[in-house]
Formats: sequence, C-alpha cells, structure tokens
Amino acid sequence: MRPVRGPEDAPTARLAVPPLRPVMAIPVLDTHEFTRRGESAAGSVPVAELPRLADAVLDPQAVLHWAVAGRSEVGVQGHRTGFLRLHVDGEVPQRCVRCLEPVRVRLAIDRAFRLVGSEAQAEREDPDEDACDVLVGSRHFDLAALVEDETIMALPVAPRHDACSMPQIPVIIRD
Ligand SMILES: [Zn+2]
Repeated sequence: MRPVRGPEDAPTARLAVPPLRPVMAIPVLDTHEFTRRGESAAGSVPVAELPRLADAVLDPQAVLHWAVAGRSEVGVQGHRTGFLRLHVDGEVPQRCVRCLEPVRVRLAIDRAFRLVGSEAQAEREDPDEDACDVLVGSRHFDLAALVEDETIMALPVAPRHDACSMPQIPVIIRD
C-alpha cells in the first residue's frame, strides 16, 4: 500500500519559480495586426542573445528588459497608420575609456515609431516631420533586431566613470 501523500510531498515542478536566466526569445511581430489590435508585449533577454550588442559589452549575461506597445490611427482618408513604442531598460558593463575598469552603463530607451509600407516610402518621408521615426512594417517584423539596434545606438561612444576609483596617474610629457 502506497503512503498517503501530504501537500508537502506535492510535485514542485510546476511551481512558478522565476528562472535564474531569462531565456524568452524576443518575438517576431506582425506589425499590422499588432498595431491594429493595440497589442503589447514585454520580456527580458540576456545580451548574449543579441550578438552584435554582445560584442560591445563586457558581460553577455547582462539582462535587458524590453517592452513594445502598438496602436493605430485612422486618418481622414480612411488609411490606418500604425505606431510602435519601444522601451528597453537595463544595465550593461562596458570598459571605462579612462581607467579601463568596468563601468555600469544604465540604459533607459524610449522610442516611438510610425510604420510605413516600404523602404521607398520610408526614404520619401521626412524624419523631421513628426516626433516619430519611420519604420518599415512587416508581417514578420524582427523585433529582436530593433531592440539590438536601438540599444547599440544608445550606448555611449566613450563609456567612462563619473569619477574613476583608480587614482589618476598624471601624464608627464618630457621634451
Ligand atoms: Zn573609470
């Protein structure tokens, strides 16, 4: 006869334990449906999943938190225009250009995009026309590439500590 199992013996495999490493892939979006329905999505991704970005930071296990929201507007002529808003937050270590020690770079990206139908249309549209940049929509939009591009662009050109912990060694120029 099998012993009666108390609640403390219940299988724990299905308990909602947060994973040590977020592994959720950034989804491919159908931007037309995503913006028409006003959908949103969010998740976390290790920098290692974004290879071009991983080359620019010291720790590929650093985690970025991303969120994207869609909305659409119907214009006077009945055309629907889709908009995407992207947030990326996180902290990635880079090398300080002054002392060469790691420096934590805080990222807080908030970008808005207006979707257009083609590259040709994107080139025709004046980016200064409104606050949004134009982005070519797609049924298979690579959101991971957008997160990666925006994060790379947000990284400082010359990362440095506000005040380096290493004492500055004066450079003596002799002639
Ligand atoms: Zn430094």
